[in-house]
Amino acid sequence: MQSENTTEDLNTYRPIIGMEIHVQLKTKTKMFCSSPNNPDETKPNTNICEVCTSQPGTLPVINKEALRLGVMLGMALHCEIPEYSKFDRKHYFYPDLPKGYQITQLDQPMAKNGYIDIEVNGKIKRVRINRAHLEEDAGKNMHPEGLPYSLVDYNRAGTPLVEIVTEPDLESAEEAKAFLHQLRDIVRYIGAGSADMEKGTMRLEPNISVRKPGESTLPKYKVEVKNINSFKFAEQAINYEIARHIEELKEGKIPKQVTMGWNEKFNKTVEQRSKEEANDYRYFPEPDLPILHFSKEFLEGVRDSIPELPEAKRKRFSEEYALPIADVDALIDWKELNEFFEEVVSELQDWCENEDKTKDVKVLIKAAANWCLQDFAALLKTAHVDPLESKVTAQNLSQLVRLIDQGKISGSAAKQVLVEMFAKGGEPSRIVEDLGLAQVSDESAIADAIAKVIAANEKAVADFKAGQEKSFGFLVGMAMKELKGKGNPQVVNDLLRKKLAE
Ligand code: MN
Repeated sequence: MQSENTTEDLNTYRPIIGMEIHVQLKTKTKMFCSSPNNPDETKPNTNICEVCTSQPGTLPVINKEALRLGVMLGMALHCEIPEYSKFDRKHYFYPDLPKGYQITQLDQPMAKNGYIDIEVNGKIKRVRINRAHLEEDAGKNMHPEGLPYSLVDYNRAGTPLVEIVTEPDLESAEEAKAFLHQLRDIVRYIGAGSADMEKGTMRLEPNISVRKPGESTLPKYKVEVKNINSFKFAEQAINYEIARHIEELKEGKIPKQVTMGWNEKFNKTVEQRSKEEANDYRYFPEPDLPILHFSKEFLEGVRDSIPELPEAKRKRFSEEYALPIADVDALIDWKELNEFFEEVVSELQDWCENEDKTKDVKVLIKAAANWCLQDFAALLKTAHVDPLESKVTAQNLSQLVRLIDQGKISGSAAKQVLVEMFAKGGEPSRIVEDLGLAQVSDESAIADAIAKVIAANEKAVADFKAGQEKSFGFLVGMAMKELKGKGNPQVVNDLLRKKLAE
């Protein structure tokens, strides 16, 4: 499926990027024991037991929920799920790995040959997934400042991971970023994990090389980058490496095959170890676990429970709601917010069908999208609140949108109402009343105010009649002042123009 090289591609330096991503699964317990799996636990060595700290005589037991989530993730990545797969031991020696080996999958992973379609600059590109396999995580070594020794926290030891390995189909940091966003969204949509790079529940290691002009085969070297814990750093690290490789290739050198680490303090990659001293993991089949056999019924059950995926939702949002692409993308990127938005939309549709048939529902939907993505999103982010758990209900937000549309409150008054609703909850019409924010649309009240303003500002009126348009703005301002800022601007404008023309 890799795209054909054009002549232009062959005449330039061309980055080739593959990814290895580890996603932590959101299960109650660990991969092979009943210790809690809680990435937010801050007290070291509390979520541990004999199994995940590898005491003599203990045996692993497979977590069925981890299998289910792993298989579902594999399916969402369009992978084949083989009928049989198995676990293997991967040996290495490090204090955070108590058994001296990691239980992972080597030659029979639970998912293979999938893909993710990404969109960059309006073009769809298919990124192939080589495999996705299940494994357990290691603990964490800590090096507290000022202590002459290190400490180990085993809370993370034995937590379930899916490792996803792509083919080297990505060609720029931009594509890599789009891919990671899409993968993160998929993991979140199916509820397999939080896929939060800052928290380490999604970790990635890009491998990067650059093809020289004229070269048609893959380069003979590959540089891996570790320690990347945000989308921003992923982009920066990849761009940094691409530039570094091109520079060396231009000098006639071939970049060394090494593992680099991203140093966020200095915005550069730093060599960690070279590949020549690659580990010998002495893999062999895990003798303490059975071979996995997925029945047809199990696989069908998992497939049937996959919810709508980001790709499909993006397509549906653009078709159904006639929103600009930027709005659709922003909504798709935040699953809970787009669920809330859809509830608001269904309230608005209901209203347009049953209450006021003169309204254009598309206009209201666009307004709802703006409120969700701007003011509401900002409040949620500042307070770290989930949209579905906020005090603002979808019904209330839809009412707010309607109040503005009906000219009952101004946009700026609506902002105040939302802040109040967010803090205390309640119906917007009630808050409008309590805060005295209702807009005056009543023509006779506005006509009275305008009559006063015209009588008191003879010069401005004369200037306007002599052709000075800016005097009109002044008179509108005076009328609004007279109405204590609550006049409906449209009505004030129209009436004032009418009066001045008399
Ligand atoms: Mn791994």
